Amino acid sequence: MIISLDKLIRRETDKIDLNFSQKIDTINYCNNNYKLSSPINIKGKVSNTNKGLYLDVDVDFTLIDNCSRCLDEVEVPIVYSIQGFLVKEGFDEDEFEDDDAIIFDGQDIDFVDIIEQTLDFKIPASVLCKEDCKGLCQGCGANLNIEACSCNESANDEEIIDPRFAKLKDIFKND
Ligand SMILES: [Zn+2]
Ligand SMILES: [Zn+2]
Repeated sequence: MIISLDKLIRRETDKIDLNFSQKIDTINYCNNNYKLSSPINIKGKVSNTNKGLYLDVDVDFTLIDNCSRCLDEVEVPIVYSIQGFLVKEGFDEDEFEDDDAIIFDGQDIDFVDIIEQTLDFKIPASVLCKEDCKGLCQGCGANLNIEACSCNESANDEEIIDPRFAKLKDIFKND
C-alpha cells in the first residue's frame, strides 16, 4: 500500500487523488497482529499546501478480534478518517501539533504504517460475538454457547439450562 509522492514533492501536481482497495493480511496494533477479513479501502487525497503535504483520506476495513467472553472470532468493522500533515520523524514540534502530524519517510506514503500509527481508540477495547454470549466455563473451559458442561451440576438446579431446552431455543431462533 505504498504511494509515491514524487510528483507532489517535485511540484508537478498539487494533489494526488487516492481511491483504491488492497488486500492486506494483518495489521499490527499494540503488539497484536489483527487478521483482516476485508481489503483496506482508501478514499481521499494528498495535497500540497503552503504548510506542507496534507493527507485527507477515509479508511475502512474489517478486522478480526476475539470475543472477550468466549474467544470466538468476531468481525469488527473499522471506519475512520485520517487527516494531517505528512512530516518526517524528528519534525519541528513548534510547527506541527502532534495530533496533526503523520510520520512518513519523506518520499512515499505507506498506508499500512499510517493506519498502524492512527488506529488509537479505533478498535473497541473489547468485543462480544453476541450480546448474550455465555462465555467459557471457568471450571473446564467449555464454550457455554455450544455445550453445557457438568461443572455446575451440584450448584443451584434452577440455574442450569437443560441442553435439550437450549437446542429447542436454537431452533426457534433460526426460524
Ligand atoms: Zn462470545
Ligand atoms: Zn465446566
